[in-house]
Amino acid sequence: MVLPLIDGFGRVHRDLRISVTDRCNFRCSYCMPAEGLQWLPRAELLTFEEIERVARLLVERHGIDSIRLTGGEPTVRADLRRLVGMLSALGVDLALTTNGATLKQAASGLADAGLKRINVSLDSLQAERFAELTLRDELGRVLDGIDAALAAGLDPVKVNVVVMRGVNDDELVDFARFGRDRGVMVRFIEFMPLDADEAWTHESVVGIDEIVARVGEVFPLEPIDRTSAPASRFRYLDGGGEIGVVASVTRSFCDSCDRIRLTADGQFRNCLFAVDEFDVRSLLRSEATDDEVGALLERAVAAKWAGHGIGRVEFIRPARSMSQIGG
Ligand code: SAM
Ligand code: SF4
Repeated sequence: MVLPLIDGFGRVHRDLRISVTDRCNFRCSYCMPAEGLQWLPRAELLTFEEIERVARLLVERHGIDSIRLTGGEPTVRADLRRLVGMLSALGVDLALTTNGATLKQAASGLADAGLKRINVSLDSLQAERFAELTLRDELGRVLDGIDAALAAGLDPVKVNVVVMRGVNDDELVDFARFGRDRGVMVRFIEFMPLDADEAWTHESVVGIDEIVARVGEVFPLEPIDRTSAPASRFRYLDGGGEIGVVASVTRSFCDSCDRIRLTADGQFRNCLFAVDEFDVRSLLRSEATDDEVGALLERAVAAKWAGHGIGRVEFIRPARSMSQIGG
């Protein structure tokens, strides 16, 4: 019998994000300090078998039907294909978020192993700016990676753009054009206060209304009815496809949030901005039964708060940065 994971506000949770590593080959300024972070020792990472056990429990007992692998950079975890195969056998909608740098080599293998969908993060189409933002001169590799994902039949291929005022907001229309030309859906993401450098300010956020107005001036848009997905969607009036905007800051979608998260070191989080974590790894390594692990997960979801409250005085920045939580 499936026992849905319902929190105190009646939200049913169906979407699991699993971070498979905290390491990354990039150094995006809004996510990780230039010198990197203290990486987790290998023994602290969940093994693929431990990840599969938690995922299976959540799928079979609690009706989780969609899983996204993230990181750090998930493709730097050795043998990721094997994990993709193990999770795809659970029959879920399986997706990956990546910086795309190694996709040229990895895309077809991941698709063969059962990966369905992919999001590639890309914040500038200008080589020099891309290198400044990521501290890696690899724009060409990411663009090749997007092509490889399309060629491998991953569908949809989405491109995630974190929009930062004065940094890359002059590229909104270029990204829209890029998405239309390549047949990929561009999703603009409002900059969130989870940057490792703590440089985030309200002024650095470009909100959904401004994003849609600036793109719409060149390529007229109309809204598409909202689903439970976090992205608000807009279609081009000329039939050229659509864009999404993840307005986590200016229009929080907390009331319809159905996500739960497992960090690379086996901590369960009921919100991206949660300040508390639930230690699943210790249970897994203490020969706990599935009932005991399941009980912890249920308790964690029941304890979920109403919403993150960015911009209010009571907002507390989580102790971990985005690369350690998994986006
Ligand atoms: N390395 C992979 C990547 O870059 O796609 C996966 C992990 S990354 C932490 C997941 C997503 O979080 C990326 O799309 C990234 O752009 C986004 N992200 C990171 N820091 C962010 C921030 N401060 N505000 C908004 N989005 C952020
Ligand atoms: Fe790495 Fe992704 Fe963070 Fe960039 S956004 S530093 S690619 S984890």
